[in-house]
Amino acid sequence: MHISDEDLERYCLGMVTDEAELAPLEEHLLGCHFCIDRAQGMQKQIKVIRDALRTENLGAVKRPSVLATFLRRLRGR
Ligand SMILES: [Zn+2]
Repeated sequence: MHISDEDLERYCLGMVTDEAELAPLEEHLLGCHFCIDRAQGMQKQIKVIRDALRTENLGAVKRPSVLATFLRRLRGR
């Protein structure tokens, strides 16, 4: 079983801080190229979102769910 999109997004955004949740995610990423690829794709998308927020060019964002998670994080929730 692979890491869910939602968990992977939260992980990439640095929102997973609970060791009990973080440890199995990192353990899975150590051995799963599929999820590493997905995580790297998400990191790139997060960078796009950061750049988009800075330049207010949100049309560049292709992953609205990542944007939503990111905005929630910015608001501190
Ligand atoms: Zn996996």
